[in-house]
Amino acid sequence: MPVLDFKEISEAHKGTGLQDTFELFARDFLSFIGYKILSDPDRGADGGIDLLVEERRTGVGGETLVKWLVSCKHKAHSGNSVSPKDDANIRDRVEANGCQGFIGFYSTLASSSLYTNLEGMKGKFESQIFDREKIEAKLIHSAKGLMIAERYFPQSLEGWKTENPQPAKLFVEKPSLKCKVCNKELLEQVDPGVIQLWSRMRKDYENEPEHFEYVSWTCRGHCDDVLTRYIRGQNKNLIDGWEDISDVMMPTIFIKWIMSIMNKQMSGVGYSDEAFKNLKEFLLQVFPYVSRHLTEKEKEIVKSRIKIPSYLGGLSYED
Ligand SMILES: [Zn+2]
Repeated sequence: MPVLDFKEISEAHKGTGLQDTFELFARDFLSFIGYKILSDPDRGADGGIDLLVEERRTGVGGETLVKWLVSCKHKAHSGNSVSPKDDANIRDRVEANGCQGFIGFYSTLASSSLYTNLEGMKGKFESQIFDREKIEAKLIHSAKGLMIAERYFPQSLEGWKTENPQPAKLFVEKPSLKCKVCNKELLEQVDPGVIQLWSRMRKDYENEPEHFEYVSWTCRGHCDDVLTRYIRGQNKNLIDGWEDISDVMMPTIFIKWIMSIMNKQMSGVGYSDEAFKNLKEFLLQVFPYVSRHLTEKEKEIVKSRIKIPSYLGGLSYED
């Protein structure tokens, strides 16, 4: 699924008096990927050039400057590919402007006959095509690229950011939760693992119906098993509860979790010093992932989870 809807950039040559936005986008894009802009997009000035850019190549023989003619074709509104008729006389235009290369900057795709034409001129000058897919791939994989995308495709980016949440920058240090067994960074894994909560009934404390001894986090599977065996070995009277960390990272489930922790405390549930310290540490590290909108997939999950009555409000709300 493409992320950027190129129709967000208005059509060229509509006589609005505005500068051609697609050409301005091409300028910002090419400058972002490292080209020096030699001539800005000029209203009216066509003559077969939309932009002139320069590439600086450093090799063993020193520095070479390569001048590229850029041709912008914004056909996203019709959806048609760019044909040799749309981008005609490429060789003449390249040579007349003293260029060594041709860049096709297209909001759709180049037709196969255009590719064939360019292939045939390979010995004369270099050529490359930036089509909508190539442009998008470059933009959405870097912070700087995303800034440009946000300027020209604000609506597309809004949706993309919701579906690809990044941790909020809240603290000086990057959030970090390391597996208590193998020390791997859980927050950088696709599956961030599980949090274990070990409690026991305390007959010696009348006002404490439940007491949490350990709160800990690990990778799912092997590390989880290792820690479970270790804690069971330490104390046979403990009951284990666990939660997927990816669940707690969903904003709606996170706040539900906090509510249930508060309810439990109110009802007299206690914590060992270590368990309480770890619980706070966990909430702090996960919070930057939580301060955001829900993705579409999470909305579905939350809908199914929310059916469990809140009075069950335990730390684990599995069925
Ligand atoms: Zn691990």
